[in-house]
Amino acid sequence: MSLSPSSSCRLGLATVTVFAMSGVVSVFAQELSDRVLIKLSQTRMELETGAGRQLHTLPTGIAELDVLLERYEASSIRPIFPEPPRGRANPEAAAHLGLWRWHRVELGSEREDIREVAESFAQLASVELAELDRKLFPAVIPDDPDYVLNQWDLKPDRSDAESAWDIKTDSSDVIVCVIDTGCETAHGDIASNVWINQGEIPGNGIDDDANGYIDDINGWNFLFQNDNVQDSWPHGIHVNGIIGAVGNNSTKVAGINWVTRLMQGKIFDAGFGTWEAGAEATVYAADNGAKVTNNSWGDTGQGPSCYVDAMNYADSLDVLQVAAAGNQGDANEFWPAAYEPILAVSATDVNDNLAGFSSHGSWIDMSAPGQDIYNLWIGNGATWLSGTSMASPHVAGAGALIRSVNPQLRAREAFLVLRYHSDDLGGTGFDDSFGYGRLDIRQAVDAARSIRLSTLTTSVPGTVDIDLDMETEHDLLHLLLATPAGEVPGIPLSSYDPADACIFPLNYDFFMTFLLAVQPNPIGQNFVGNFDGSGHSDASFVIPSGAYFKGKDFSFCYVTFDPNDLSQIRRISAPLTLHVNL
Ligand code: CA
Repeated sequence: MSLSPSSSCRLGLATVTVFAMSGVVSVFAQELSDRVLIKLSQTRMELETGAGRQLHTLPTGIAELDVLLERYEASSIRPIFPEPPRGRANPEAAAHLGLWRWHRVELGSEREDIREVAESFAQLASVELAELDRKLFPAVIPDDPDYVLNQWDLKPDRSDAESAWDIKTDSSDVIVCVIDTGCETAHGDIASNVWINQGEIPGNGIDDDANGYIDDINGWNFLFQNDNVQDSWPHGIHVNGIIGAVGNNSTKVAGINWVTRLMQGKIFDAGFGTWEAGAEATVYAADNGAKVTNNSWGDTGQGPSCYVDAMNYADSLDVLQVAAAGNQGDANEFWPAAYEPILAVSATDVNDNLAGFSSHGSWIDMSAPGQDIYNLWIGNGATWLSGTSMASPHVAGAGALIRSVNPQLRAREAFLVLRYHSDDLGGTGFDDSFGYGRLDIRQAVDAARSIRLSTLTTSVPGTVDIDLDMETEHDLLHLLLATPAGEVPGIPLSSYDPADACIFPLNYDFFMTFLLAVQPNPIGQNFVGNFDGSGHSDASFVIPSGAYFKGKDFSFCYVTFDPNDLSQIRRISAPLTLHVNL
């Protein structure tokens, strides 16, 4: 997907589908007509006000802007991403993307001529972009629980959280931000897994941790700008529960993570949400340490550019972003799922068919159970729900688990592990219904834990210790491949499809041995170790000195071959990126 923002006011008519309890209702875009989102022009701002100054009050001091603000009777101006007193977690990325230049202009009342108003702002030299926001809705539909088996979605023949739990159930070292309608934080089956902001003292009216939000103990309400994150819709309690309902406590349901930390980015209240709130929640998640976000909502049109900037900022901070593919039941793109950095998830049913409501197409990444899903409900309850809203948190929850199993995995690497360690349904390899396959949590956990490096940064010459595990595939050949970052030999990882297994010019006569090969050298040199009887190996390899290696990133992939069939890769573990210093 192209991520380039429009260079002028974007006012195209889009449609939003509302999922009412009476069924699916398509309506025209629910553009918000009482506000305009503007991105100030960098150079003009520096000339007039100095770089980095955010506008909080009227008049702003920028003459041409104040003329328009007065003409349209603007009631306020507010930074969309308020600069936190303690600063940004990635100040370079924030400056590059220009997060500080985004502002919301409140017009105080709804205007029929809102598009003309936005167009007027877009004409100003001090304004780079002027866009409208639209209402958003969760991607859920009503459900009939009559024939449903409780938590079928986690069984070994489906997403197989059950077997993954033999390996790991606790991801409390990973924060997951649930960008949704909020959470019943006192629910008996989730309370202990709700994130607590350790830097904040509850209810003292002070921004103790200087992150820009007062008393944000469990997260923030980005629609109403307060600390109330309770699930008033409700919807988010179910999504939170899929990711992290407390497990093994003889109560109701088990989340994919039995112990975890669920940050609340509440962007829906009083009947709708906004893209602007979604953007601010995404930046909050990234700045406050979330490693995964779940986005069970969206729109049939692209978000305003402030959302794209926020998404790219989170990407710069190594956040795995997962989103629902939508419930249109067609192949049209659904946003934010269709953005390239975001993992788009379609929904399957109890029989491993694509759910009838699920959006699909060449833009989805993978699928997960989403029809007739039993999980938590408000009032300390539990219920069944359907929607890609339910599929997305299965993948986000698995993402938290694998990033806890192997903290070395970067977000993009976790993205690939989830995608190609799935169960291939439908046509062989990628297809428009299931993407690269239906989530298989046990497979993903095995891939994530199968390789660890002693360091992800080294100097040349340097030694890196490798820790490899492969318990069940002793009769295969094992290789460790090092290639320029983001590739398996010859193929960018971002487009790698296991069904297109590449053919290596190999001729091996060893067994249960792995080696290191570095392009452009041919594979077949530098043996580094042997597996023991249980399929474990510790070994070291030396990065030789030489200009070729310096200042580069290398992807390490753990690969197996069937010795009787050297025509294809049988398995690729988690790729890990190693940086070699200058
Ligand atoms: Ca705070």
